[in-house]
Amino acid sequence: MAKKARTNWQMSEEQRRLLPRIAGNTINGLGESEFRRPSIVYWPNDFAFDSIPHGELCKFMLTRGANPEVGKIYSDVKNRAPKILDDIAQTRVEDTPENWSAKVKEFALTHEADLVGIAALDPAWFFDQHDIPNLPWIVVFGGRMRYEMMKNAPPTKEDPSTAIEVGLVYNQVDRIAGNVANWIRSQGYYAENQGGPSSGKMNLIPAALQAGLGELGKHGSIINRKLGSLLRLSAVRTDMPLIPDHGDDFGADDFCVNCRVCSDACPPGAIFDTKQKVRGTEKWYVDFDKCVPYFNEYQGCAICIAVCPWSRPGIADNLVQKMARRKERQQNQNST
Ligand code: SF4
Ligand code: SF4
Repeated sequence: MAKKARTNWQMSEEQRRLLPRIAGNTINGLGESEFRRPSIVYWPNDFAFDSIPHGELCKFMLTRGANPEVGKIYSDVKNRAPKILDDIAQTRVEDTPENWSAKVKEFALTHEADLVGIAALDPAWFFDQHDIPNLPWIVVFGGRMRYEMMKNAPPTKEDPSTAIEVGLVYNQVDRIAGNVANWIRSQGYYAENQGGPSSGKMNLIPAALQAGLGELGKHGSIINRKLGSLLRLSAVRTDMPLIPDHGDDFGADDFCVNCRVCSDACPPGAIFDTKQKVRGTEKWYVDFDKCVPYFNEYQGCAICIAVCPWSRPGIADNLVQKMARRKERQQNQNST
């Protein structure tokens, strides 16, 4: 894959005129030392663009004249989760949390999921525009985007393969969440689903981290130990009795400290090289106000997740081993 270089890319006057008074980074809480819940900053649910300050920029992106094939994918409702889920069965099937956890994972993995994990539902993940449901568990699903389709990111009119793949996998993970929610409901338990690209009720990335799907990368997306960063997420929140998984620390966070592949490749230079304080948490963060104009111009970007070394086929296993050896060396040094 051709290595992309950071450029002096500038947003167009047209987009500049649409900027709201408040910065996206301010809405996201960049620099804030106190915890607060996140706010929806982009892609509000049901296209309610007037409900957020950056709604005009969302509309701008939609008017960029998408490749017709991409438009068809997103409007292909029969290949997404049903708008209305099935009724909850009157009789509740009883089983242990261990068995339900195994069953729900098996169902997901045999119904298109590439990754699945369970976490205790944390109210801190919900956008402040939404009520927090009184549910104990979230099941998070990951769908893999094919490297061959993503390697030429960003999408262009001439080569829309990245946008096509992103759309197909958004539909895939949305279907998974719909099917799993209906399966849980058929067992007599409550379940509600969330899929992208709309924001939904909550931020799925912290839930996916807690559910063991990977670590947060410098590019602000999940890095999975097998599949790298070419992932889309969806989830089901439920009261079915389950057992939570644990976060997966395999060294990706350490790797990011000394890697600059994504930050060097990002055309508008949106990726911070050091962790930032965001609503009370120190973490990797992408400058929303630099990223979104570029993302809009190309109707999607994905350069950072495509160039990430963990995403290249056949590389992740070696990197996991390398980071395990590095950790062992450090532990040995510390103990002598
Ligand atoms: S998606 Fe955003 S952060 Fe990633 S490379 Fe593109 S502009 Fe940069
Ligand atoms: S490209 Fe490098 S720095 Fe960026 S997320 Fe991947 S491993 Fe981390």
